[in-house]
Amino acid sequence: MSYDDNNIFAKILRKEIPADVVHEDEHCLAFRDIQPQAPTHVLVIPKQPIAKLADATPEDRQVLGHLMWAAGEIARKEGIAEDGFRIAINNGGRANQTVFHLHVHVMGGRDFTWPPG
Ligand code: AMP
Repeated sequence: MSYDDNNIFAKILRKEIPADVVHEDEHCLAFRDIQPQAPTHVLVIPKQPIAKLADATPEDRQVLGHLMWAAGEIARKEGIAEDGFRIAINNGGRANQTVFHLHVHVMGGRDFTWPPG
């Protein structure tokens, strides 16, 4: 799938619309989900334009690893790392991906069930 520069997370990256940012570095931006599904719900996005996980190329491997590191770092800073937390990546229509800029959901502060819905 081609990347659409007008998606809402691209606008957040360009600071065209506001976000409640909790972490930013050279590779990623993390901000609170506007419709949180848990007491802590942060989205971690790469600065690189990748529409969905399955579009990532071998050149993206470092940034994908960075997103995982950032998710753990944010969980620690949010105080949910020890109790337990969940990360999720929705890829495509059947997984209900609604924003086509890759994002990692970091959720915590409540119990989670398995399998997920
Ligand atoms: P997904 O369904 O995996 O594509 O997740 C997209 C997420 O983006 C949802 O959890 C939305 O609540 C969240 N979202 C949409 N617009 C915004 C926004 N402007 N700021 C923060 N989160 C948003």
